[in-house]
Amino acid sequence: MVSKGFAWECECGNIEYGSYPPEECSQCAAVDSFIKVPEDEIAEREEENVLAKRPLEEEDD
Ligand SMILES: [Zn+2]
Repeated sequence: MVSKGFAWECECGNIEYGSYPPEECSQCAAVDSFIKVPEDEIAEREEENVLAKRPLEEEDD
C-alpha cells in the first residue's frame, strides 16, 4: 500500500501531497507558504471533488 504522505496547502489554495511541504508553490510561486492540511479536511475536500465531477460525467455523452 502506497502512502501519498501528507497534504500541504498554499496560501493561494493550491494543495500538494508529499512527506514534506514543497519549497515553492507551482501555482503562485510563493516560498515556504504551505501549511499541513488535517486528514479529515482532506477527506471532506475529496468528497466535494467527487460530487462536483458527477454532473460533468453525466453530460459527457
Ligand atoms: Zn500558492
